[in-house]
Amino acid sequence: MDAKLMSVALAQLEQALFNHDQWSEAINQTLICRLPFDERDVDPEAHKHCRFGQWYYGPGAATLQHHPGFAEIAVEHRRMHQLAAELLRRSAHCDAPSLEDYERFMAATKRMRLEAQTMKHELEDALRNIDPLTGAENRTSMLPKLREERELVKRDVHSCALAMLDIDKFKAVNDDYGHLAGDKVLSTFAALAISDLRSNDRLFRYGGEEFLICAPGADLDKGTVLLERLLAHFAAQIFEFANLPPFHVTVSARLTMLDPAITVEETIHRADRALYAAKAGGRNRMMVWTPDMT
Ligand code: GH3
Ligand code: MG
Ligand code: MG
Repeated sequence: MDAKLMSVALAQLEQALFNHDQWSEAINQTLICRLPFDERDVDPEAHKHCRFGQWYYGPGAATLQHHPGFAEIAVEHRRMHQLAAELLRRSAHCDAPSLEDYERFMAATKRMRLEAQTMKHELEDALRNIDPLTGAENRTSMLPKLREERELVKRDVHSCALAMLDIDKFKAVNDDYGHLAGDKVLSTFAALAISDLRSNDRLFRYGGEEFLICAPGADLDKGTVLLERLLAHFAAQIFEFANLPPFHVTVSARLTMLDPAITVEETIHRADRALYAAKAGGRNRMMVWTPDMT
């Protein structure tokens, strides 16, 4: 998910949790003080009408629908509303709810809150690992992810292609068009790469104008196709700033397979060595690492 969308989703989730806590307090108040209940809280669709439900079933939460914990929240939230409705009805008939019923309601509330809080923490973690300028993942999450992939390759689960990409003559972009133009080139490159990659592929900002792509399940042929497509897309991009003449920027890439016989740092180093070949070969090209590269 895009970093901006993720921040919006996180802010809305925080608001929805706050609204849920207020609802929870109001229910407790109604029960303890024997106040008349709100008809909406005993409606069979109460879980959709409360403010948390309005967020959950509304367009705001759509970006989180594929999150692993999203569906679980609905189950617990609905159960919690059903239990609340029972308690409210009993209480209104001067029939003190049993401790057991109240505990079931509180347990459902806690489970629902735990599911939502877990999703919130996962979003916060994911945002911490995203480079704000480009939306690529930063280096903090890179090595753990690559080590995880190396284990899968070792266990023959799948192969994994690794590519290092370095924007060509990037210093000249900064010098000729300014640092802001340079920033725009970086964010444009990352956006193109993210849209070209498959959902399991990951883009990391390795540093400055260097990026690393991790493509689980890809072999050298698939990696080559992916990189050639990305290089062509980026080279076709026209950049225009202020009154300066439009210009193009290219990127060079080097591809290798994640090798379980060596450390991930050594595999990255292999990809790095292929850089010199790609740059020496005239830039705007990709090279596959071969053992003779020193
Ligand atoms: P080559 O084709 O050989 O890769 O040359 P290059 O100019 O791309 O490489 P070089 O290492 O000489 O320059 C990289 C430049 O990237 C220098 C640095 O100021 C710039 N840079 C690094 N991070 C950022 C950033 O976040 N924004 C901008 N605008 N520039 C950055
Ligand atoms: Mg560089
Ligand atoms: Mg460069």
